[in-house]
Amino acid sequence: QCVAVCPTAALTEVNNTSKVWNALNDPTKHVVVQVAPAVRVAIGELFDMPPGTISTGKLVSALKALNFDSVFDTDFGADLTIMEEATELIDRIQNGGTLPMLTSCCPAWVKFFEHQFPDLLDIPSTCKSPQIMLGSMIKSYYAEKADLDPANIVSVSVMPCLAKKAEAARPELTKDAHSDVDIVITTRELGQMLKIAGIDFEGLSNSEFDQLLGESTGASVIFGTTGGVIEAAVRTAYEWLTHETLEKVEFKQLRGMEGIRSATVKVGDMNLRIGIAHGLGNARKLLNDIRDGVSKFDVIEIMACPGGCIGGGGQPYHHGDMEIIKLRQQAIYQEDHNKKLRKSHENPYILKLYKDYLGKPNSEKAHKLLHTHYTPKERI
Ligand code: SF4
Repeated sequence: QCVAVCPTAALTEVNNTSKVWNALNDPTKHVVVQVAPAVRVAIGELFDMPPGTISTGKLVSALKALNFDSVFDTDFGADLTIMEEATELIDRIQNGGTLPMLTSCCPAWVKFFEHQFPDLLDIPSTCKSPQIMLGSMIKSYYAEKADLDPANIVSVSVMPCLAKKAEAARPELTKDAHSDVDIVITTRELGQMLKIAGIDFEGLSNSEFDQLLGESTGASVIFGTTGGVIEAAVRTAYEWLTHETLEKVEFKQLRGMEGIRSATVKVGDMNLRIGIAHGLGNARKLLNDIRDGVSKFDVIEIMACPGGCIGGGGQPYHHGDMEIIKLRQQAIYQEDHNKKLRKSHENPYILKLYKDYLGKPNSEKAHKLLHTHYTPKERI
């Protein structure tokens, strides 16, 4: 059995590829896959393509060649996360809720927080991560639309991350003992499967993700890098708070590779104070400063890995090589730039999801399916 070690030292990796092969070979199962944003700018490296190559279309073709029944995009889950998270942020700002609000997409960070800052568990957003939000929609909305029994769906994720395997198994995220995501594999494990299947990745043509859960905006793509979640949230919160069109969607002051960054963004009459950290040592420092009253923020993004998910523990082995991580980051921003729609709340399939199924952001149904809670854990 192949075992690798996470660069955040949080987890060891167990290879899940045999579980995916078994599901794909079981004719009674409908096997659905989703792919995280950071995977598409790194998987090419496993096939000797230059770091920073954007392989989105080839990646979809490769997954179709492996015979997944539907190929969905975690970016859709990221757009959905922004709908819920921006709503939660605005509610906290306007109604005296707890600030700062912390983003909650990174399971290594969430686990660290539960162990190290159990007295501050009211500050993270209650939003599930994009992976789990999409998994939840696969087993409910998609199952209903496609007339499938959720018990016969196997929901697979391809993630840049080792902690996402543990996240999928969190008891707080299972419904009636069933997980919304059944199997998580890493970018490296997918590369291994494609090599075993003899698929010439570089030679593949481009394909599109499947609908209903495959359309995405540029805001969701930038979830793959440090600062991206908060930039995506600001694009939506700005328009919802001011009722004005945001013409310039790129917030350069939120970008970069410094371990701890801060910026203020003018949103109408308000100065939104934003903190960003990547790497758990930096996260601890930022949180200690908040607890001690040294730093004051309205919203904070924290990602455990250097550079964010592009530098995740499940990515091709170049850990710690910041030049390669920067090339992946440039590719993420290029992918955002190439998108026709760049704000999550403009995604037509997200709007359809709310109209047909969820009602509105933070509705009772949305809360049940898309939000979670945190549990204080023993300090380690
Ligand atoms: Fe996983 Fe690292 Fe991304 Fe956190 S930052 S979700 S640990 S890849």
